[in-house]
Amino acid sequence: MVNDFSKAKELFSNILSSNRMPHAVLIEGGSKEERQNAVDFLSKSAVCSGTTPPCGVCKNCVKAQKNSHPDIYTPKLSGKTNIISVEAVRELIKDSSIIPNDADTKVFILYDTDKCMPEISQNAFLKVLEEPPQKTLFILTAENSKKMLSTILSRVQVFSLKNEDDTNEEIDELARDIINGIVSLSEDKLLFATAKLNNRVIFKDVIKRVSEYLRQGLSISVGNKNSSKEAQAIAKKLTKSRIISLIELSSKAIIRADRNVNMTLLSTWLCGEYRRISWQR
Ligand SMILES: [Zn+2]
Repeated sequence: MVNDFSKAKELFSNILSSNRMPHAVLIEGGSKEERQNAVDFLSKSAVCSGTTPPCGVCKNCVKAQKNSHPDIYTPKLSGKTNIISVEAVRELIKDSSIIPNDADTKVFILYDTDKCMPEISQNAFLKVLEEPPQKTLFILTAENSKKMLSTILSRVQVFSLKNEDDTNEEIDELARDIINGIVSLSEDKLLFATAKLNNRVIFKDVIKRVSEYLRQGLSISVGNKNSSKEAQAIAKKLTKSRIISLIELSSKAIIRADRNVNMTLLSTWLCGEYRRISWQR
């Protein structure tokens, strides 16, 4: 099996550059193959003993490639519906407290958690995310992370393989509500819209969309025509320097969302900052 890791490398670039592996990661969206590639890349990186993980040639990488690494573990599915049962989760939690055999890190891979993990199993799994054991990496995959419990999502680092241009209507509507709150100088509208960003994935998607509108607004204010109603309102109501500050703030918010911060606090902070930049004298 030959892996194309270019997309996975890009996806995990901030983990790799910071050299700090999180305790738990959720890979969502994309095709099954893309998710598998990302899982392979990350699990190998975690066990690799070479200098540039995954080196592909060390003992750990070779074993991982053959699916025979003793520190990479995937719970068995049970029942006719192929679920990860509560018992399987408990087993996994017990196992995670035992130190790894060959590698420095133990890796647990849970596939298709949006389909295979019933709520009761997710709740059982929550326990280990609250106090993750040392030297352990949990990798979860899901086609649609929105089907997962928000308590799980707030404790894992989510990586999305979705394409930038498949903006869905729900995301666009939330982004338009936020822009509306900003340009109408309505604190209530803005608060109401940002309060809906309680899920990490939605938060990032919506704020990216808000940034796009702001950029369009900026391009109108420098003379470009032909844009959305929202972008025109931005250009009309806000100075260029304010729009730039709002774009910078949005990027900062997306970076913060990638860290394990409380989503309610984050959206409240963002609402306050949007207001401060748009309204201040
Ligand atoms: Zn290696």
